[in-house]
Amino acid sequence: MLSLLFCVILISVMKMKTVLITGASRGIGKACAIAFAKEGYGVALNYNVSERAAMEVKEEISALGAKCEIYKCNVSDSKAVCAMVNAIENEFGSIDVLVNNAGIAQQKLFDTLTDEDFDRMLGINTKGVFNCSREVSRIMLRNHKGSIVNISSMWGSVGASMEVHYSASKAAVNGMTKALSKELGPSGIRVNCIAPGLIDTEMNAIHSEETLKALTEEISLMRMGRPEEVAELAVFLAGDRASYITGQVIGVDGGI
Ligand code: NAP
Repeated sequence: MLSLLFCVILISVMKMKTVLITGASRGIGKACAIAFAKEGYGVALNYNVSERAAMEVKEEISALGAKCEIYKCNVSDSKAVCAMVNAIENEFGSIDVLVNNAGIAQQKLFDTLTDEDFDRMLGINTKGVFNCSREVSRIMLRNHKGSIVNISSMWGSVGASMEVHYSASKAAVNGMTKALSKELGPSGIRVNCIAPGLIDTEMNAIHSEETLKALTEEISLMRMGRPEEVAELAVFLAGDRASYITGQVIGVDGGI
């Protein structure tokens, strides 16, 4: 009886898939971490500065009975990303799914943007996606399977006033998604992108109440989205039910 139980546990551990979610200490990344854990994934949870929040997400996931480890790393730093991915591979054995979620936002008039503003925005939102995808794709190429889900933004397609660098950083993620899906598709790796609309997270603290009200009035469903509503699609796109979907940029925006 005990050996049967051991075998069942061993098989389930061997079958456990691992997801790396960047920027998962709060907001959409946190919702993704919890949603993947509920689907039975082991979760490698990345954050940059919010250690306490990341610890709390880890505790929440552990309480669900799923394996979770946290990894401090600035995704814009390619050497740090390489070290993080190596550490995750050592701990979890492999990485099956990558969710490139980490991101920052900033509102500023175009003619006041500094070089530092532009480089920081593109460094995290765009190069971060490049850094993590490059490292993780090396593992996926060895395995001849894997799924990458990028989180861009509706502003990457339509452009936002006073967020030119943010819009550019997200348009680049849309382009990277399409190009990478073509290059990795023959190796059995799918690459898709979610373009959220207005989602109720701390990121929107940059907007005034007036702006949020005006934006909400333009949404067909007349409300902001919930992080969990983005996470639902991330889990779907990552899994086998989406086995013939690649190279897509899909909006979760309430019809704005
Ligand atoms: P959020 O609540 O501000 O969370 C951002 C997350 O990214 C945090 O966990 C943060 O962790 C992490 N992060 C920031 N810089 C990082 C770095 N250099 N390295 C690693 N992690 C970093 O934002 P959110 O609303 O959940 O946004 C998540 C993603 O969705 C972003 O890519 C954002 O552009 C996109 N998005 C959001 C909305 C929206 O309305 N909320 C709409 C469209 C797209 P630390 O605090 O530890 O740095």
